[in-house]
Amino acid sequence: MNPKWNGQFSCFDLVAKTDDCVRSIVRAGNVEIGGDDFVVMAGPCAVESERQLLQTAEVVAAAGARILRGGAYKPRSSPYAFQGLGLEGLKILRKAREETGLAIVTEVMSEEDVDLIAEYADLMQVGTRSMENYALLERLGGCGRPVLLKRGMTATLEELLRSAQVIAMATRGNPQIVLCERGIRTFETATRNTLDIAAVPVLKTVSHLPVIVDPSHAAGVRCLVPVLARAAAVVGADGLLVEVHPSPDQAMSDGAQSLTFRHFRDMMDDLQPYLAIQDAARRLGPQLVAAGGSD
Ligand code: PEP
Ligand code: MN
Repeated sequence: MNPKWNGQFSCFDLVAKTDDCVRSIVRAGNVEIGGDDFVVMAGPCAVESERQLLQTAEVVAAAGARILRGGAYKPRSSPYAFQGLGLEGLKILRKAREETGLAIVTEVMSEEDVDLIAEYADLMQVGTRSMENYALLERLGGCGRPVLLKRGMTATLEELLRSAQVIAMATRGNPQIVLCERGIRTFETATRNTLDIAAVPVLKTVSHLPVIVDPSHAAGVRCLVPVLARAAAVVGADGLLVEVHPSPDQAMSDGAQSLTFRHFRDMMDDLQPYLAIQDAARRLGPQLVAAGGSD
């Protein structure tokens, strides 16, 4: 391991990897994240209507997704853009869980909404804009639900793990946190964000928490999503968070990066050989998949 990482990250003792805690499994509803299965979370950026969500839920479940994503409370770059359906969106998510058995991940933006959203969600998403909202993170640590913590778009890995430590300090006992690399802001403009693929093996090496990749917000365009998903599988990610919409051109948010149903099915089929590479690498030893070698 790079000795620098040890010094940088070991102070976050509740989330850092130790001899006693190498790998933790996070349970969202009936789904285990960080175990042997590669867990795909998929669905629209925002819940727009019952029909849109239920249709999407059925398709992604049939294609192998285990968790349904969909924002009811939306943090938008523009204050004039659609801000989400709020409570109505949560009720639609609950209905989709009842009909498909998928677990639900949805974003929480404010500490005041934590208790309400915890009644409907199996996994509480912290978005890139909220990663350093410590009041929110502390409330989430005590809410009894696992947390999906997205990396801030200008945050270092040290800052991401510091935020995970804030949640873990507020959690009694075993911290249930999934880390998510969703692309960071760089000088590159060809993609919406730059997917920091090295973040996955670094985080898997220094932390016991599961790590997933969101190729949709990294890419910003749907044609790049499947190839970034493959890269995530090969470097040892524990799963994906992917945007899917019945008709992306009509989506109220993030249509350009949302996969159609056909694209999603194709992506899931095409992932299989890359998941086999991940399995083979795991059998060779955790360091090979986690850090690409012993150094
Ligand atoms: C989202 O998942 O729809 C979202 C808003 O993500 P991020 O916080 O990464 O921009
Ligand atoms: Mn989105």
